[in-house]
Amino acid sequence: MTAKTMDDLVSLCKRRGFIFQSGEIYGGLQGMYDYGPLGVELKNNLKSAWWSSMVYENDNIEGLDASILSNPTVLKYSGHEDTFSDPMVDCKSCNSRFRADQLDKNICPNCGSEDLTEPRPFNLMFKTNVGPISDGSSFAYLRPETAQQIFTNFKNVVDSSSKTLPFGIAQIGKAFRNEITPRNFIFRVREFEQMELEFFVRPGTDEDWHKEWVKKRLHWWEQQGVPKDNIELYDVPDDELAHYSKGTIDIMYKFPHGLEELEGIANRTDFDLGSHTKNQDELNISAKVMPNNNSNTRLAIQDIDSKKWVVPYVIEPSAGVDRGVLAIMNEAYNVEDLGEGKERIVLKLKPHLSPIKAAVIPLKKNNAELVNKASDLKKRLQSLNIGRVVLENTGNIGKGYRRHDEIGTPLCITIDFESLEDNTATVRDRDTMKQERVSIDALPDYLIKCINE
Ligand code: ATP
Repeated sequence: MTAKTMDDLVSLCKRRGFIFQSGEIYGGLQGMYDYGPLGVELKNNLKSAWWSSMVYENDNIEGLDASILSNPTVLKYSGHEDTFSDPMVDCKSCNSRFRADQLDKNICPNCGSEDLTEPRPFNLMFKTNVGPISDGSSFAYLRPETAQQIFTNFKNVVDSSSKTLPFGIAQIGKAFRNEITPRNFIFRVREFEQMELEFFVRPGTDEDWHKEWVKKRLHWWEQQGVPKDNIELYDVPDDELAHYSKGTIDIMYKFPHGLEELEGIANRTDFDLGSHTKNQDELNISAKVMPNNNSNTRLAIQDIDSKKWVVPYVIEPSAGVDRGVLAIMNEAYNVEDLGEGKERIVLKLKPHLSPIKAAVIPLKKNNAELVNKASDLKKRLQSLNIGRVVLENTGNIGKGYRRHDEIGTPLCITIDFESLEDNTATVRDRDTMKQERVSIDALPDYLIKCINE
């Protein structure tokens, strides 16, 4: 079962400390959210699952963590200064602003007026001043995608890691877009995180690699608990393609508010490297690139067989971390009928994503022997380095179970008086609610097995 409504998720996120409106005490800031104690764990777990699947599992993929503030020249030659815009209309009656392509009819969704301005392009990039003088001569953009710094670092990575085609560069980090109408909780925000891979391939092999990455990414989302049943692939039509793309497949997910993009997988051709490289005329570039006289670096690679310089094509799987968190929480959210008018909310997260891996609960909060034993076990499990383990010393087992069901903790481990005698504990499974007695010495392996399943 998926969430009933977006409100169910928003309310759980706030109540249990996953996600808060940013600057809420001063009325908030539209399109910005803060991740709380549990949200930051879930988000980090998702990012590390992506990083492992890209960088650790593939010897031909390297990682990068580049700057957010971007030299405007980079975004000039990437084409973003000219084309990274959405069509905006103003309502002349109530002064609200909207994206023209998101209006059902030519009617203001706020006041119903039909008196709207003509659509005009609105560039989504945020600008900020660099250095002490703010006269507009020295500014930087906050990057609208993480990709560009991968392209500008292409030669640095190739030279320092001796890569040959095909190979990739992966990066996770913040991106900023001054969205005209941020909405639907963390789905469309102005500050968000992306997980992007630029996978460089020989021209001519790009279409096969494109298909291959679509398959790989669907499989990965399934491993995170987002099943294929709730996904549709959208082959973006030519007139909707970004300026750099020869073909894009969007992974569309059934979010609580509708079917929308979770990840885009684009064939960016040789557009970006071709636009940023020097000696454009001497390289056999097929895309209609931005003419570039300023670059001092050749962004090409020497073919091992022909020894010719090739500007690789690039396949880009680009996923949103925040949209990933929303999809995963939506899938995991379950309300179960326990009979007699009782129900429980349980977040059936894949254990590797759970913010807390196990809660150790002493039966009585004021009993030093129980609390010490529980505390020793918490330390032992924490040292496994598999994520957060907590000591839940509230003395209320039922309340502890309810809280940990709602936040998706796979195992609750209770230390009781029997534990002091025979060194066993009661382990309760989040999904089945079944309890079993397990030797405390066996618990580290038990927990590792549960998380790796
Ligand atoms: P949309 O059409 O929904 O605006 P997009 O096609 O502009 O998305 P891309 O440029 O392909 O998005 O960005 C790659 C990924 O980054 C998206 O699939 C999405 O997961 C994430 N993303 C893009 N814009 C936002 C945003 N405003 N808020 C949250 N995530 C975003």
